[in-house]
Formats: sequence, structure tokens, C-alpha cells
Amino acid sequence: MFVIYHVHYIFLFPELYVENEKVRGLSFRYTEERSQDHRDVYVKLGVSGQREVRHLEIHYLNIWSKFSFLTLQTCSSTSSPLIHSALICAGKMATASKVIKCKAAVAWEPNKPLVIEEIEVSPPQANEIRIKMVATGVCHTDLYHLFEGMHEGGFPVVLGHEGAGIVESVGPGVTEYQTGDTVIPLFLSQCKDCRFCKNPKSNHCEKGWIADRQGEMSPAESRFTCKGKKLLQFVGTSTFSEYTVVNQMAVAKIDPAAPLDKVCLLGCGICTGFGAAVNVAQVEPGSTCAVFGLGAVGLAAVMGCHFAGAKKIIAVDINPEKFEKAKVFGATDFVNPKDHSKPISEVIAEMTNGGVDFSLECVGSVGVMRSALESCVKGWGVSVIVGWTDLCDFAARPIQLIAGRTWKGALFGGFKSRDGVPQMVQSYMDKKVKLDEFITHNMPLAQVNDAIELMKNGKCIRTVLSISPQ
Ligand code: NAD
Ligand code: ZN
Repeated sequence: MFVIYHVHYIFLFPELYVENEKVRGLSFRYTEERSQDHRDVYVKLGVSGQREVRHLEIHYLNIWSKFSFLTLQTCSSTSSPLIHSALICAGKMATASKVIKCKAAVAWEPNKPLVIEEIEVSPPQANEIRIKMVATGVCHTDLYHLFEGMHEGGFPVVLGHEGAGIVESVGPGVTEYQTGDTVIPLFLSQCKDCRFCKNPKSNHCEKGWIADRQGEMSPAESRFTCKGKKLLQFVGTSTFSEYTVVNQMAVAKIDPAAPLDKVCLLGCGICTGFGAAVNVAQVEPGSTCAVFGLGAVGLAAVMGCHFAGAKKIIAVDINPEKFEKAKVFGATDFVNPKDHSKPISEVIAEMTNGGVDFSLECVGSVGVMRSALESCVKGWGVSVIVGWTDLCDFAARPIQLIAGRTWKGALFGGFKSRDGVPQMVQSYMDKKVKLDEFITHNMPLAQVNDAIELMKNGKCIRTVLSISPQ
């Protein structure tokens, strides 16, 4: 068992509390961490055994009667032995309602390295949550905005949208989240109120940035400034920052025992690929599949096909270094388009008696989208576009669809974001989906440009950048 204990008086006099427990013969391990730039303090207590957990619960109930904003969460953990570290946040952080100055990686203009700057992060306004980021992945969509989309209205911006962190403070009107909650910010909101959120057929939400600023890839409003200039918040999240502010309709509360440096990947790539196979293509047991592009998104699609019971999963990539990894997630066959002179759809048709049942495009290239469609079997083949691009039209012969194929696309793997992400975190904790295997590199936020170079050169699957301790 471990306890996450938000205690105001421990925050004020933690040493006295621990001394007191020693006298009673109970073993608490106490450490205090102060972040460099701010006065917020995290207190970690290691608690061993049921008796001590119960003891803390009793104190909690007493304190709760005085400070109703406090919360106590207990959860069992199978990953470590008797003593577990627990993160204890003060009921109210010293930084609440103040502007926080912190470090963030700023993209001042397209096609240039990011610059680590000190930025100002405003307190959360109505319905907003300020999050202390713990870890973030780097996704190709960050690179797309920086090097391909390059929308001039989309800069300066703080990139990053695949992160996880801890709630630092909440604005007025926020009731479902509180200081100390572990959360994943979401680029796709779920207000639970609009006609899209209410319709089980869609995971779109009318309230997010996508509704009116798809090109800029950021809402017009932002809570960030740097050197007197407004910085945009990429897809409403901006996880390449020590702190960020997100609307509560774009935040998923997750299991407090989840390791944030792993589950951050569920903020984008893994849900996107896995959901594209399971929710959108609706891959069937015994079917044949082809996945084009074996980055984290494509590998997660391979994992989704395997999870759904596909018997043949053809992994397609022009970088053969990706094939070993694809095996780990369940790929059975491997095709490098560079090894063939004929169209890849013909190669796949020969391998599968006329085409696969399901194909998934996870590259972001309109040419590959066409190949993926043409690789599907006529009659019932389904092809899903997952790769992101908004730069040019695609083309295909109408006969491809007349012959009975279905061509569709999906954002975030069809998951309704606030409902789906906590479920995927649970699936990871229950070992039903893999995450650790996607992570090829770990670095501090300061090395974000190295992480971007690795992805540009096809040398990584996912780099996780650590931002603050969990
Ligand atoms: P990545 O750069 O890690 O992987 C892309 C892979 O595609 C690489 O392995 C590359 O070698 C391969 N590739 C390139 N050209 C190819 C070709 N012609 N044929 C076959 N393979 C080819 O990227 P990622 O982070 O996995 O993201 C993949 C795509 O998914 C990107 O376009 C990204 O923007 C998009 N995306 C979409 C959503 C969504 O909601 N729809 C969400 C996240 C990411
Ligand atoms: Zn992404």
C-alpha cells in the first residue's frame, strides 16, 4: 500500500510529525524537496504496512473535518516492496494564485532550434488547471508544426502535447480536480456537453482549439508570456514547460500510482495508434492488417492489431531499423518499399491473396495514404488515415471505393479523451498494453533539441524528457 497524503499541517511542521511517529515506534521516511525557482515543497513519506496506512487515514479524517480541500488517496502497488514513496503535496501550494516564473522550451519561429527561456505562467482562470509537468514525450506532430506546417500565425509557441504532471492549483469553477492530482493534459478536449461529446459515434468536441484554429494549431488565448511577448500554447497543452495551464475539459485525471514518465505517452501517440486499430478500423480476430510507418504511432497501431487478434500484421517502413521493434509489438511480416520496384499495394496483394482486411497509414504522407487504401482487399477492406497533414490534397481512383473499400480517418485513435486516457492508463497498469518498449531515450528538457534531431533522423521511437521529479 502507499499513501498520497495532502496534509496542511505536515506541510507546516513535517519534522515534528515524523518525530512524533518515531516516538510511537512507527517508521516513516521523510524527505523534503524544494524546487529551485519556486517555494512549493513536496514532502515524501514512505509508509510500510497496513497498520501505518490506517494510522494515516485516521489523521486524515481528523484533518479533513477542518480543511475540506484536502484529499487522501490510497492505492495498492505491486511494483515495489514494503516501503513506497508517497508524494505529499501541501493542501495549497505556496505558488497558488501567483504568476510562476519557470523554464520552457520556446519555438520563436519555424524551422529553428527551440530556446530554453524563463517564461511567466499566469494562475489558472475560471475552469482552468495549472499543472506542474513531470515528463513529456516528443511526437512527430511537434516536428510537423516546426518544420512542415510552419504556420506563421502559430509562433512563438511552446510545443509539446504528450505529457503528464501534477495539479499545482485550480481556478474558480473547477471541482473535479485538486492540487496533487496526477493528470495528463489533452490536445483533444471532451467538454461532455456539446453535440459531438454527447454522440457516441465521435470523439470530437466543439469547444477545443481544433474547431476554429486548425492551421495555427493553438488556441488564440494563452497563459504564457516571455520577454513581454505572448507565447502560444501548442494544441492547448504546451508540455515542454515546467508549468502549463489547461482548461479542465482537456485534462484526464489518472491513477496516482502510474509512473508519469511512462504514461505521458498516452497523451498522444500510443492512444492514437492503438485506438486507430481497435476503435476506428475495428480490427477483427483472425484478420490480416498492414501498418504503414513504424514510429510510436504505427507501432501502437501494430500493438492494437495484435490486441484485437489479427493473425497477420504486415509492418511497412522505409527504415528497416524499425522492424525489430515492430516484432516486439506483434508484427509478423515486414516490407521495405525501397526493396521493391512495383507499387507496394501489389506486393501486399501478393502476400495476402488480394489485399489486407485493414490498413493504417501512420506516416502523414498523402502518397502513403493512397498506397494504404490500395493495399486493402476489395469488398470489405478498411483503411484508416492516422498520419497528420493539412498541406495538400490526396488522390485516389473512385473505383477503389466503389469496389467496396472504406477510407476513414481518426483523431486521437477515436478515444473520447477524458474517458479513454484513464482507461488506457489502467490497461498499462494491468499489463494489457505496453508503454516502456516505446521509450528508446530519456533526457532532461534542456536537451529537447537533441530529442527533435533523433526523431528527424529516424533514430528513436520515443524520447521522454524529464521535467520535474514525480
Ligand atoms: P515518426 O516520425 O516517429 O514515425 C514515422 C515513420 O514513418 C518513420 O518510422 C518513417 O521511417 C516512416 N516513413 C516515412 N516515410 C515512409 C514511407 N513512404 N513509407 C513507409 N514508412 C515511411 O512519427 P510518429 O510520432 O509515429 O507519428 C506518425 C504520424 O502520426 C505523424 O504524421 C504524426 O503527425 C501523426 N499523428 C497523428 C495523430 C492523430 O490524432 N491523427 C496524433 C499523433 C500523431
Ligand atoms: Zn502527438
